Parts: sequence; C-alpha cells; structure tokens
Amino acid sequence: MTATRDPLDQPFPDAPERRRLVVLGSTGSIGTQTLEVAAWQGYEVVGLAAGRRSDQLVAQAWRWRPRLVACDAEVVGEVEGQLPPGTRLAVGPAGVEEVAALEADTVVAAVPGFRGLAPVRAALRAGRHVALANKEAMVCAGPLMWAEATAHGGRLTPVDSEHAALYQALLGEPPEAIERLVLTASGGPFRREPADLSAVTPAQALAHPTWRMGPKVTIDSATLFNKGLEVLEAAFLFRLALARIEVVVHPQSLVHGLVRFRDGSVKAQVGPHDMRLPIQYAITAPARPPVPLEPLPLVGEWTFEAPDTDRFPALALAYAAGEAGGDAPVRLNAADEVAVEAFLAGRLRFDGIPRVLEAVLETADRAPVAWGTLGAIDGEARATAHAAVARLGSPT
Ligand code: MG
Repeated sequence: MTATRDPLDQPFPDAPERRRLVVLGSTGSIGTQTLEVAAWQGYEVVGLAAGRRSDQLVAQAWRWRPRLVACDAEVVGEVEGQLPPGTRLAVGPAGVEEVAALEADTVVAAVPGFRGLAPVRAALRAGRHVALANKEAMVCAGPLMWAEATAHGGRLTPVDSEHAALYQALLGEPPEAIERLVLTASGGPFRREPADLSAVTPAQALAHPTWRMGPKVTIDSATLFNKGLEVLEAAFLFRLALARIEVVVHPQSLVHGLVRFRDGSVKAQVGPHDMRLPIQYAITAPARPPVPLEPLPLVGEWTFEAPDTDRFPALALAYAAGEAGGDAPVRLNAADEVAVEAFLAGRLRFDGIPRVLEAVLETADRAPVAWGTLGAIDGEARATAHAAVARLGSPT
C-alpha cells in the first residue's frame, strides 16, 4: 500500500492521464534534462520560460509546441516571429510569472538564484504542484513559500538530488521517529588538493568530478557552499531545526541522502549521477515509471568522511546564517551570487568567496523577512558584497 500523504505532509493527488508540464529555466541544465524526462514519459509541455538563449528556446518551442513561452526583454527580437503557430510570447520577469501560473499538472521551477523566487511564488499562488529545483526559494523565503502553498492549495516536491533522496527515505515514516537528516556531499574537485586553494582557476573549479550542472552550482560545489545552501533548504523544506541536519562527504555520490531514526536505524536512497531521476520522481511521486537507463552498478568502493570546514568555511557560514535566522540566509545567498560571479569573471580569488560571505553575514540584523522586504534585503546585501569584492581585489 502506498502512503496517501507525503513526507512534507501534503496529499498525493491522482496521477493525470497525460501530464501537462511547465518548465521554468528550460534552457539550463535542469530544464533541458526535464525535457528529456518529458520525452521519455510522453508528457505535454504547455509553457517554457528561458532567459537569453533565444535559439535554444525557439527550437524547444518547435519541438514541444507550448501555449506560452517567456524570454528576457533583451532577446525579444530574436524570438518574436520565430515561434510556431499557437505559441504566444511573454516577456521579462512578468512573462516568466505568467508562464509559472499556466494551467498545468506540474511546474518544474529551475530558474536559478534569487530571481527564481517570484515565479515559484506565482506558481504556488495559482495552486500548482511545483517540482522545486531552485534552492533559493526555500533558503530565502521558506516559511513564506509554505504559507503561499497552504493558502492557495499549491504543493511542493524537491528536485535537488539530496532532498529528493530524503523525501524518498522519509516516505511512509512517522515524523516523530525521525532523529536527523543526513545530506551527502561529493566534496567537489578540491576535496584534498591543492593544499593552497588561493590560486585555483575558474576552469579548475568548473571541472566537477561527478555531476553535470550549471556554472553557479558547480562553483558552489567546489567551495561546499552548495551544501550549505542545501542544509538551509532541507531545514526549511522539511521544517526541522538546523541542528538536526548533518553533512557527510561521500565522493562517489551514489548515496544521495540518509535519514537517522530514533530507533538507531538509518535509511538511505541510492542512485546514479543523473539528475533526470530526481527530476522525474519530483514530478511523479510516489509513482516510479520505468526509465531507459542502465541499472546502477552496486559493486565498488563507497566511502564516507566528515566535511573539512577549515578548508571549506562556506559550509560553516551557512550553518551560522541559519542559526542567526531572520534575514541572514537571504544576505548570505546574495553575497554568494555576487562572489561566484566575480570569481568566474576573474575579479576575485577562489579563497575570497568565503571572505565575501563572512563580510556580508556580519551585516545581517536578524530582522524577520516578509515579501515586501525581501528585495531590499537582497539588494543591500549585494551592494555590501560588491564592496567586499572590490576591497579584496583581483586575483592577479
Ligand atoms: Mg544537490
């Protein structure tokens, strides 16, 4: 028998006959893999939202024939007039929100960063099921997002592989039996070497050992800040105290998440390095339709070690922001978006990233976050981060 309520205490709806999907961030890593899942499962795609990759968006529109697509104002000229008959164009952030609120069974929310918040909110306000790939929605506005979902009948399921793993391991388990959630981290490309991280280049940091992902999350994996964001995301998503969220480094990235129970048992979810599986599960849970993939080989060495927070202070800073509460996670997130962009542009050294985070975190005042103040807090933190980047100077 299958559980009727999910681990986030939401009812499972009946599976639709032919699923209608909206994909926000359709030309990014998660977006394109979502469309691969849609092709596997024969879903209908009713809406697509992208940024500036106009050629790719137009090609997706011809392949999927959605009712509505959205793109950045900058590339309207390259999209307008290129769309198939029956596909309308919406523009800019308001356009993305219009796509997010389309009538659909599932909205895959994969617009990265702080700017991904508004479309998640729009989808929840329209009462949609959101398969959430954007981490920042929970990190910056977790309680606000839950309030929107509750008020408007929206539903959330996690796409992030660790949270998808925890969701699966928690399914059917009584909440009072849960002791701790454990997220695994690959450790990134610099887990042990080089000893001195100050001179690593963007190209080295972008060479992730196990996962294929966008540039922001790949750099965040190299600093371990990605795991910090995920710890905060897990605390807000599963509504557990931060002290009950643990991180363990597992370089093989086959165990994605574990749950420790009060009786001493540990339940883990295991899978290949392929985001299409958590994407699909976030869409279809609790159903598990078959996929055209080779079975995961179980023979090999699987290792686990404690994270080194002296080497990767960004992880500890995320815990500190979560403990501080209020606006601290919003500010830390903004600081990291600025710092990673500066690192990729050659304006900041790799070891400058946590220093920018620390400088911005010091300015957090723990003020409670509301929809009306989020944007201003984010903007203020970005300004502080830019100043810290300028102060720390360029790599050369
Ligand atoms: Mg992850």
